[in-house]
Amino acid sequence: MNHPQDLPPARSAQAQAKHQREMHKLEKRLCRLVGEAIVHYNMIEEGDKVMVCLSGGKDSYGLLDILLKLQARAPIRFELVAVNLDQKQPGFPAHVLPNYLTELGVPFHIETQDTYSIVKDKIPEGKTMCSLCSRLRRGILYRVADELGATKIALGHHRDDILQTLLLNMFFGGKLKAMPPKLMSDDGRHVVIRPLALVSEDDLSTWAEHREFPIIPCTLCGSQDNLQRQQVGEMLREWERRHPGRLDNMLHALQHTVPSHLMDSKQFDFVGLKATGVADPEGDKVFDVEPLSDPSVTVIRPQDFL
Ligand code: SF4
Repeated sequence: MNHPQDLPPARSAQAQAKHQREMHKLEKRLCRLVGEAIVHYNMIEEGDKVMVCLSGGKDSYGLLDILLKLQARAPIRFELVAVNLDQKQPGFPAHVLPNYLTELGVPFHIETQDTYSIVKDKIPEGKTMCSLCSRLRRGILYRVADELGATKIALGHHRDDILQTLLLNMFFGGKLKAMPPKLMSDDGRHVVIRPLALVSEDDLSTWAEHREFPIIPCTLCGSQDNLQRQQVGEMLREWERRHPGRLDNMLHALQHTVPSHLMDSKQFDFVGLKATGVADPEGDKVFDVEPLSDPSVTVIRPQDFL
């Protein structure tokens, strides 16, 4: 395989120009999608102080990076403060984020709490540590948000995380439930937002590579990766490879639910449903199977969401 440096100078310059154009397009797309999510769900308002949770992974770096770009050009004023929780996992390179954030000139706070030892102590060897670990982390982040006077807490979950959660809840939890783009925290005191809700994981990976974020590996805790999540993730990637646009269609579906065509009596009053004697202007489709468009042809663009 040819590396750009092996190509003849003219080609190399051409390839470089093409790469630059692609990265410029990607930057515009990321800013547009994050901006759309923020506006659509009213995630950030005038005067907000947004605490951006940084783990050292590609997604949270991308989140901070794009929010900084939007902050510079937004018609409203809001503050950003980056927060990392150092959980004292063995080998955690504690200098990486402070160095990166200092160089960037972003206000930040590193909270050091040894949740790793607590989790190791409480969970028997071989059992999954993630649920206790995330519960502890959540509590700490809410406290830090209070201390910093943050009005919003931003997390780096993206479109693919949301769709994985939807399928995991359907397959294993028996619920039609994904990850909300905006929610009130369990203690009722904070608003948590996911500005990357419309962004694909692929785009975030490419952006992280382009921006050369100093990624901190996420395997330091030694916890087994969630196998079911991995399998569902692989299934989604395979669908997207074979039918480009399918994941955006699924995300679109999450924004256009039809409770009368599901089976939840809490969402639609099936019990009280009676004939009204008034014809449905859409015509009698009651016994028809809905025609489905070919997902490999119909690509719903994120701008259609608005
Ligand atoms: S992977 Fe490790 S750090 Fe992440 S939630 Fe699970 S136990 Fe905690």
